[in-house]
Amino acid sequence: MSFLLPELGFEYADLEPHIDARTMEIHHSKHHNGYTNNLNNALENVALTEQPIEEILRNLDMNNAALRNNAGGYYNHCLFWEILNPKDKKDLDGDLESAINSSFGSFENFKEGFSKAAATRFGSGWAWLCVKDGKLEICSSANQDNPIMPSIGCGGKPIMGIDVWEHAYYLNYQNRRADYITAFFDVVNWRVVSEKFKNA
Ligand code: MN
Repeated sequence: MSFLLPELGFEYADLEPHIDARTMEIHHSKHHNGYTNNLNNALENVALTEQPIEEILRNLDMNNAALRNNAGGYYNHCLFWEILNPKDKKDLDGDLESAINSSFGSFENFKEGFSKAAATRFGSGWAWLCVKDGKLEICSSANQDNPIMPSIGCGGKPIMGIDVWEHAYYLNYQNRRADYITAFFDVVNWRVVSEKFKNA
């Protein structure tokens, strides 16, 4: 068994003007494709090939750099494309809205906290909204690490994440990561995030 690059379910240009088509094309067909191929290569060296990606991440040997980087890169981008899918896009409402309000006080507070986690992640990495012990938490991780991996100081089940590697925004936003983070909120599909919250 090997992992496959997932289809996006939408066109590269569908997130414009917030995220441009060229960035999406390179990000999906080059970067994510690279993580996928390198994950499959890394799995040839260990006896894990029949496990779902979440199991591989949960039980990861953090000293296996090739597997850590590429299993993370594979999973993180799969989640990212899902929550950005513009098909049947929906505003935030229902149980997730209530949980955000009770965990962070208001949506604006949540947005500020999540944006700060994304903006202050030095170098490459991700910011996350996670469900941990039934509660929502914001955290961030370096490189392609994620909250499912053991002991990265950022735990729980991720239901939303933003990629803050420069490859995610540099063509359109150059050094303006904050503008990219603002734009990200314009393309989040809250229907998908709500489903992930329900299943977490
Ligand atoms: Mn990326």
